[in-house]
Amino acid sequence: MTSGARKVKNMPDTVELAQDLVRFSTVLGENERTALEYLAGPLEDAGFACSFDVYDENRPQSASLIARLHPEDEAPSLYLGGHIDTVPFGNAAWRHDPLGGVIEDGRLYGRGACDMKGGVAALVRAALDFSLENNASSRKRDLVLHIYGGEEGGCFGSRVAARRVELFGKPGAGIVAEPSALMPLSGHKGALWLTLRTTGRTAHASMPDKGDNALLSMLRVAARLADFHPDASHKLLGNATAALTSLHSGLNSNSIPDKAELTLDMRTVPGVDHAGLARRVAETTGADAHIEVVYDAPAVWTDPDLPWSVRVRELTCAITGDTPEVRCANFFTDAASVRTVFPDLPLCILGPGDPALAHVTDEFCPVEQIRAARRIYVALIADWYAGRG
Ligand SMILES: [Zn+2]
Repeated sequence: MTSGARKVKNMPDTVELAQDLVRFSTVLGENERTALEYLAGPLEDAGFACSFDVYDENRPQSASLIARLHPEDEAPSLYLGGHIDTVPFGNAAWRHDPLGGVIEDGRLYGRGACDMKGGVAALVRAALDFSLENNASSRKRDLVLHIYGGEEGGCFGSRVAARRVELFGKPGAGIVAEPSALMPLSGHKGALWLTLRTTGRTAHASMPDKGDNALLSMLRVAARLADFHPDASHKLLGNATAALTSLHSGLNSNSIPDKAELTLDMRTVPGVDHAGLARRVAETTGADAHIEVVYDAPAVWTDPDLPWSVRVRELTCAITGDTPEVRCANFFTDAASVRTVFPDLPLCILGPGDPALAHVTDEFCPVEQIRAARRIYVALIADWYAGRG
């Protein structure tokens, strides 16, 4: 096994890399390609074959970075995943410039510091560390690194990449570096987002009987859904949920609305058939509403008793000093897209930063966690390839 502390010349420092990434504004996908090209530089120097997967043809900056060390290797590789985009800054004033990449009191501040540029920097640096040894060895191993764009809008980058299975090579297990405060998480709920639409006929509001009020139709639909439950639960992930989250209708106060739109956000657990769930919603609402699936991501769950899962907890906790408990995430991640390609691939969500600090004003990531994340990834990569070919 290698030590992560090995000093390497001309290699970016993990924390400096994270600072630089924060300085690229990648709010909702802007400048993604530019930031990813910056990462591709040292990766290509280290021997990674890098390419960019465009996920939205209407936006030249929309991209995911696909880096492979030795694609010709047939043995199971380790997959590493993250995302480069961030949410907007929000309306409240920041005490630290959200694009400054400033470190104060051991914390890297900025939008994306926690979610998840600290994690991306640690992944990239650990991949570079591995490349040095691997390139020097006679046994060339593949290591697969995907840094996606468009995650915050609904995992667009990873969903598009997932249509091209060849981008993933032959992974045997995968790590997604979303913030988990360096605790290995065994999975998360799935998501099924539906938009329901009703249509009617507009008329002057003084003569409502001349029109057909789409808002009234939608309110009846919403009332039927008020007590709708997916009726499923999981021992760690908890109950599957359903929530009505937005209602839009009408353009002005004196016209009968001819259109109404309602969104339903459902979070599911392993074993829930999303198509069947959407059918149950349709049966509940009746024929009044047209239903569109806007996001469909399966739940992610990896058996925590798998030898690899146990090993990840042991190796991580040996570095963090934490207790190796089985935990899961509240949020969903790009791991769901990976799961659609590889239904049985063991996956772990593990990254620096407190998930509660994602998306907040004055978001930060402790610098020590970024450094520890690199050491953890180095250990996990070395462990994966040791004894495998
Ligand atoms: Zn994230």
